[in-house]
Amino acid sequence: MNFLSKITGSFSTPSAGNPTVAMVEAAYKHHGLDFRYLNCEVLPKDLAAAVMGARAMNWVGFNCSLPHKVEVIQYLDGLGESAAMMGAVNCVVLRDGKYIGENTDGKGFLQSLKAVVSPSGKNVALLGAGGAARAIAVELALENTSKITIINRDQKRGESLVDLLNSKTKCKAEFKLWDGKYEVPSDIDILVNATSIGMAPDLTAQININVDSIRPALVVADVIVNPPMTNLLKDAQSKGCKIVDGLGMVINQAVLGIKYWTGEVVDPEVMRKKLLEVL
Ligand code: NDP
Repeated sequence: MNFLSKITGSFSTPSAGNPTVAMVEAAYKHHGLDFRYLNCEVLPKDLAAAVMGARAMNWVGFNCSLPHKVEVIQYLDGLGESAAMMGAVNCVVLRDGKYIGENTDGKGFLQSLKAVVSPSGKNVALLGAGGAARAIAVELALENTSKITIINRDQKRGESLVDLLNSKTKCKAEFKLWDGKYEVPSDIDILVNATSIGMAPDLTAQININVDSIRPALVVADVIVNPPMTNLLKDAQSKGCKIVDGLGMVINQAVLGIKYWTGEVVDPEVMRKKLLEVL
């Protein structure tokens, strides 16, 4: 097996483990793809050297997790449309000898949302204004969402995302400071949690939202991967809402990344099964 030009992977900081490795390698194996996916723990001070190393070894691409998503841009040769708009890259692809930065976070989310509802012409309430929220908001805006309300504790971060959407897309965006229990307005069609609230190990964390304002007609989505069934999704399901969990987002991202790197479209079910096994 020739690994030299068939290496993909992830540059992440030391963490408790990266479930993406098992998931992507399961897809490579299932489809007989002669590629590997390696998790490399890269400290921020070593990022430039890590990208140079990948170049030297002809890696066909790699994912970047926090905090490398913004810093990596200066070491790349170009950016895809949405990555340029967001100013963040989570997937680097070798194209004609050049490293191009893409952002598959929002695209992965959009794909799982669209299996339940099209955001086109809809009003979305988005909780959070961090990296995941930014990626999701830009893709929703590019998909002709009518209005996006950003709800965030940190005003500066929230307003900066609203400015980005209003200045660079046709979507109307507005900011709502999150300083009390959030009441979902009656004109909202889709509610998305893009904060880290609900992520293991703090399984008791509750989102500061009035559960009574969740109407059955709402579609409620969460970005949290572990556990996939968050308290928000449980509440929404008990109200009769359609729900979208964070597993689809992470799996669809991996399908897209593998397509960029290998040209092959892999079976998402193989990855879902492996992910549930390792989580
Ligand atoms: P960031 O640190 O960039 O942003 C975190 C966001 O959560 C901010 O808006 C922050 O608000 C908000 N937040 C955190 N704690 C609270 C709280 N107690 N109350 C209100 N708001 C809070 O993180 P990311 O955007 O990168 O990641 C967010 C989540 O998305 C993580 O759990 C991550 O695992 C998940 N994720 C899932 C993906 C998937 O494929 N399913 C892909 C990428 C991320 P403030 O600005 O006010 O501090």
